[in-house]
Amino acid sequence: MTAFKLAAIPGDGIGAEVVAAGVEVLEAVARRDGGFTFRVDEFAWGGEYYKAHGRMMPEDGRAQIQNHDAILFGSAGHPEIPDHITLWGLRLAICQPFDQYANVRPTRVLPGITSPLRHVHGKELDWVIVRENSEGEYAGVGGRVHQGSSLETATDVAMFTRPGVERIMRFAFELARSRPRKLLTVVTKSNAQRHAMVMWDEIATEVAQEFPDVTWDRMLVDAMTMRMVAKPQSIDTVVATNLHADILSDLAAALSGSLGIAPTANLNPERTFPSMFEPIHGSAFDIMGQGIANPIGTFWSSVLLLEHLGEDTAAQRLMKAIEQVTADPEFHTPDLGGEATTVKVTEAVIAAIRGANE
Ligand code: NAD
Ligand code: MN
Repeated sequence: MTAFKLAAIPGDGIGAEVVAAGVEVLEAVARRDGGFTFRVDEFAWGGEYYKAHGRMMPEDGRAQIQNHDAILFGSAGHPEIPDHITLWGLRLAICQPFDQYANVRPTRVLPGITSPLRHVHGKELDWVIVRENSEGEYAGVGGRVHQGSSLETATDVAMFTRPGVERIMRFAFELARSRPRKLLTVVTKSNAQRHAMVMWDEIATEVAQEFPDVTWDRMLVDAMTMRMVAKPQSIDTVVATNLHADILSDLAAALSGSLGIAPTANLNPERTFPSMFEPIHGSAFDIMGQGIANPIGTFWSSVLLLEHLGEDTAAQRLMKAIEQVTADPEFHTPDLGGEATTVKVTEAVIAAIRGANE
């Protein structure tokens, strides 16, 4: 029997509510499967920790989780602390040093859930967005000078390295190849951003030679938003920069019915470091503490976590349980127009896991 070491980092706001639910569901699926268990260590890092210690996580925080098999993350974001401090102090402080350079974001319209796109039904929207997660616009390069004077100047420099772009491109082509349609869209903005984005296009053309069986096309990011809304059926796998894919994937989440459903995997494909799984959404200050956060994004992220650990049977069982539950409007939280609570959805998913056949 494999015992996986899971690091749970609930973070702030509804992050804490959905991660607690996610851990329960992962433990239930492990019990049902019988072939593996989780040893869960919880780390109370985030905004409250910051208020007590002046930092989002301890100095040796990464060392504490480096040898875990996977990380389940909630959200970094606290109403009393500026967002750039919470984000850089926790989420990016884990993603970047652990070289989780491939951020994978599947989007589907799950059974029972209505897309705001009137003409889209069920399987017509089935995408995976691959976000470059280690450099680009979020490289952290830049600075501010002359603060407080009329000459105040600030820069955020987008930094792209050839190895960084090559590895994400190869990852995206491989992922596209593994899906039935073998179709990849490479998103850039190489008309206006004439240096790095042109290199991105060139590298895409080079890497494409290694994947003659994958059909691929290129889109400018602004036109891509239009295509996602107007012709969602024409899209399968997408690769884009850190910033572009961040924005496109929130749009994708909304088009699938709710931000509360959308999952993410922050992968270190070489497995030198643990990978991290989290719902796309943030702390949701407007609904925190009310017990109505939709936990489906965290459950779907847990499916990605199980796949990463090689527990494919358990992953499929959990995904089926999720779909069974979303299919019934009785279990829709308010973001989906229903009245269900986090606890009610969680209990329903656990019941579906228990009842699921092999
Ligand atoms: P948000 O995702 O927290 O909320 C956006 C809207 O979606 C809100 O109306 C919220 O109620 C709703 N929503 C989000 N998740 C939901 C769920 N599971 N169930 C039901 N409704 C849900 O985004 P925001 O308001 O821009 O950010 C709030 C805070 O979270 C900020 O501090 C921000 O920096 C942080 N944040 C963190 C992450 C992260 O850690 N990965 C991601 C996004 C935002
Ligand atoms: Mn985002």
